[in-house]
Amino acid sequence: MSIISSNNMLKKAQREQYAIPAFNIHNLETMQVIVETVAEYQSPVILAGTPGTYSYAGTENIIQIANELSKKHHVPLAVHLDHHEEFSDIANKINAGVRSVMIDGSHLPFDENITLVKQVVEYAHRYDVSVEAELGRLGGVEDDLIVDSKDALYTNPTQAIEFVKKTNIDSLAIAIGTAHGLYKSEPKLDFDRLSEIRSVIDIPLVLHGASGVPDKDVRECIQRGICKVNIATELKIAFSDALKQYLLTHPDANDPRNYMKPAKAAMKQIVEKIITTCGCAGKL
Ligand SMILES: [Zn+2]
Repeated sequence: MSIISSNNMLKKAQREQYAIPAFNIHNLETMQVIVETVAEYQSPVILAGTPGTYSYAGTENIIQIANELSKKHHVPLAVHLDHHEEFSDIANKINAGVRSVMIDGSHLPFDENITLVKQVVEYAHRYDVSVEAELGRLGGVEDDLIVDSKDALYTNPTQAIEFVKKTNIDSLAIAIGTAHGLYKSEPKLDFDRLSEIRSVIDIPLVLHGASGVPDKDVRECIQRGICKVNIATELKIAFSDALKQYLLTHPDANDPRNYMKPAKAAMKQIVEKIITTCGCAGKL
């Protein structure tokens, strides 16, 4: 068991119409809970970290812990770079042992996004590292956006064809109405756009900002071709709320080995719920 790229697991998910959950990790406890739970459910998984998480926990620490957890629980793990924007940063982390990366050039003009992504793909593929890139913008996308700006923010299917062809990426994150963080009101996803993109692109498609999207909508996205679902905020909220609640009701608590337990249990419930939504149990 070891640290692997996301390629094979995503291709299998695409063939068999389920999704791989990509959970954002933050510390030892989140890694333990996620790996223990996916092992129990025999589910494939991606452990994702933003640049901030890798600086906070230490890239080598994350890789070593993932390696040990993988061996202990007999689960191969894709340790993934989420929303990384710098070529040199990605190259350094590939050299450190990461085998799955996202290069996010979605804030750049189309041509510059292609140039940056190509540079990362050429480097990453030498080491059998899988590369995800994003086209279109996520963010505080509101339901009442006027059509012009909605079209400018959401992924354009025609551009997606050119983007995939020119960059040679392994998976594509698309913008169809999800946002990062918390939703003020229930998001309205552009399912038709997803189907249109799926019909013209043959690599795995990725849904970011799935925390807070109703389960039925996530399932609909998977049916229409999403193969990777990113979850961050939901885990953080479950963990923090349970921790706060415990400390408020146990003001004398001072042992992390005890007060982390309810936080871990709360997070485990979210991981279980997402595995069910993704339909990935038993797919290891
Ligand atoms: Zn994201």
